[in-house]
Amino acid sequence: MKRTVWLKAFAAVVALGALGAPSSSAAPVAIAIHGGAGTIERSALTRETERAIRADLERAARAGYQVLKAGGSSVDANLAAVVILEDSPHFNAGKGAVFNAAGKHELDAAIMDGAKRRAGAIAGVSRVRNPILLARAVMLNSNHVLLTGEGAENFARSQGIRFAPERYFYTEHRWQQLQTAKKLEKLKPLAALPSTAYFGTVGAVSLDQQGGLSAATSTGGMTNKRFGRVGDSPLIGAGTFADRQCAVSATGHGEYFIRSVVAHNICARVAYRGDSIDKAAEAVVLEELKTIGGDGGVIAMDQYGQISMPFNSAGMYRAMIDVNGKLTVQIFRDE
Ligand code: ASP
Repeated sequence: MKRTVWLKAFAAVVALGALGAPSSSAAPVAIAIHGGAGTIERSALTRETERAIRADLERAARAGYQVLKAGGSSVDANLAAVVILEDSPHFNAGKGAVFNAAGKHELDAAIMDGAKRRAGAIAGVSRVRNPILLARAVMLNSNHVLLTGEGAENFARSQGIRFAPERYFYTEHRWQQLQTAKKLEKLKPLAALPSTAYFGTVGAVSLDQQGGLSAATSTGGMTNKRFGRVGDSPLIGAGTFADRQCAVSATGHGEYFIRSVVAHNICARVAYRGDSIDKAAEAVVLEELKTIGGDGGVIAMDQYGQISMPFNSAGMYRAMIDVNGKLTVQIFRDE
């Protein structure tokens, strides 16, 4: 009898201990986000704008991290972060998206769940308020991976996805960027646009308590792009990819990222060569892409929540909360 009482007490203490265990013994979680890469000079940003951009990056990273800490999935954490960045006028996705050559918006987005190897993507939609939510609907509720244009918007309607009027996507600074790009084009028809014209794509990668990794990317593409042009962001393997060991979201000059199959290229190095996430991401962004002239960067994460964020442009809007819970928000190269 005495022995049973003692055993019960012992079991209770063990159970209490487990419940009250410090969070450091919980499964690690981490999130990294980006708000685009390009020529981001200190002189081009007012203090006020810089402060607002940093605040949005922090808010997005914290929103995603909160989902992870509460036991939510990596997919949901990425969505929470990306929706905030899409709703901000400071980034080239959702509100704040760049204009194409016809003076319209064509938005692209993708999400990939590495644990389940599921993916959903959309390209060339013009009225969907949060393209990343439509990408998720494609992943979860269709038999397809990538839907485009009118077909994607029809599917959005059937899913009860929120639309916004054309004027919602208008921002004066993106309109002025289009005018500058048009002038440059007249002078030199096939000249590459300055990279100020395309920074701002947004993305997230994260690791959840179940060990699941996922990647999400959303963009307006590149200023003055031809009507119908699709970049790397919604192409699984190019701008967005995740498997069980690695997740990547990219930003930069999409045509080069497609040709280098950047996101899968990084994850393949981790899987087949056993490279660290840093080594793999740096080899692709700082060597391979650089050699062919592709400007931009990536955020990448491995199965342990290690984060790598290399870029070969002047700056990249980026933030992370690492496995120790430490928040970092950065814009420039020298931070
Ligand atoms: N990668 C995007 C695209 O080419 C643009 C960007 O990342 O800023 O559509």
